[in-house]
Amino acid sequence: PPPRSTAIVVGAGFSGLSAAKVLVERGIDDVLILEASDRIGGRIHKQEFGGVAVELGAGWIVGVGGREVNPVLDMVAQSGLRTCLSDYSNARYNIYDRSGKIFPSGIAGDSYNKAVETAVQNLKCQESAVRELIKVVDPSTTPITPMELAIDFILHDFEMPEVEPISTFLDFGEREFMVIDMRGYEHLVHRLAGEFLSSSSDGEITDARLQLNKVVREIQHSRNSVTVVTEDGCIYEANYLILSVSIGVLKSDLISFQPSLPRWKRKAIEDIDVMVYTKIFLKFPYSFWPSGPDKEFFIYAHERRGYYTFWQHMENAYPGSNILVVTLTNGESKRVENQSDEETRKEAMQVLKDMFGPNIPEATSILVPRWWTNRFQRCSYSNYPMIPDHELLQSIQGPVGRIFFTGEHTSERFSGYVHGAYLSGIDTAKVVLEEMKKENEMALIEPLLA
Ligand code: FAD
Repeated sequence: PPPRSTAIVVGAGFSGLSAAKVLVERGIDDVLILEASDRIGGRIHKQEFGGVAVELGAGWIVGVGGREVNPVLDMVAQSGLRTCLSDYSNARYNIYDRSGKIFPSGIAGDSYNKAVETAVQNLKCQESAVRELIKVVDPSTTPITPMELAIDFILHDFEMPEVEPISTFLDFGEREFMVIDMRGYEHLVHRLAGEFLSSSSDGEITDARLQLNKVVREIQHSRNSVTVVTEDGCIYEANYLILSVSIGVLKSDLISFQPSLPRWKRKAIEDIDVMVYTKIFLKFPYSFWPSGPDKEFFIYAHERRGYYTFWQHMENAYPGSNILVVTLTNGESKRVENQSDEETRKEAMQVLKDMFGPNIPEATSILVPRWWTNRFQRCSYSNYPMIPDHELLQSIQGPVGRIFFTGEHTSERFSGYVHGAYLSGIDTAKVVLEEMKKENEMALIEPLLA
């Protein structure tokens, strides 16, 4: 018979590991974690590039300085991870047009403030539209010029606190700290895993309860158990299953369910949008961009929204690294994922030449993460409508028999963030423990009722 455990956790990202940790700490020793890739951490992933550690996935602790302490900040403090404050507020004064001219700060600032006002107004309209079930469209607020498009992109594709009443900012504060540590953000994941899984003296996890390179392809579920089939033909059984794969993976056909998921669950999975967010890293022989903390972030205004718009130099984080980062999202992310890195390098170089002139040095290397094409991710994070939809959230969280769902996309208040993933894992594990308790109680009562 296939090996049987009390609970299987699919996925060893932050949410899967935090769920498994809670179970083990509550005495469920035989948890089995099946992870598709050859590493833990999922969307927290550092890579060495140009002599420093760069974060392909999560890079910031978002939500610092507020009335409550972000749990991830606590972990950062305990682990001594090096971070630095990111001040985006200057970006609006470093907007370049295609001829390399910087928009005067007055014009850029006014345009920015107007865009914020419009966005807030639009949100209010949408809220009342949802309340009163009417559709409101105001064409006068549509951004048109390259600068308006660039600002629109920054405000909406980057979730700026002044526009959106996001719980992360409301609860934990509006500051963001970037991880700048050679151990990477993923050091927190390794620490979390090390708290309940055994590891060797060099920190490598050796615990047999964590199985890497185990791609779950089929989940069979019945009244009494769950059976998991992996791509390499292994079969595992459990009483309960916690599924922590991303919303992108749930939308894809990587995992089939027998019997298939009920309609309400499939609809919820379909209804949640995904965001693709890509940080492209470029290494240069020397720096040619304006330096200084107030120049860390800069913007390129192009007539195509989101075309190599948002830039950051890494000199504040790693002085002398000569690395620039440009962030693309959604359609532009997918487009560059489908072309060669050399084509992307050429496009980015042309944009930099527009901004800084034709004599700048060529980038010597480029790193283009591919979150969308990666079949174990298929997105960067979930993208909920700005107006909370409780029914949708309940459906995405809701268990199906013995299958329990977790991950950033199931977090009611903090979807899209590392702390959302971490807290959702804890919450899901608690729900599973409750379920176990109920079942044990029933098992005691049933013979008496017979
Ligand atoms: P994941 O980390 O995706 O874990 C799921 C795991 O399941 C993965 O390891 C995956 O390999 C595995 N898996 C998938 N399919 C299977 C299968 N079939 N069988 C077995 N295993 C499977 N958050 C912030 O707070 N700050 C940021 O600055 C930030 N920036 C981001 C930038 C980018 C580019 C990205 C991609 C994300 C960013 N996020 C950020 C979001 C944050 O990284 C995620 O919310 C969080 O890491 C998600 O954790 P998770 O456990 O829910 O999912």
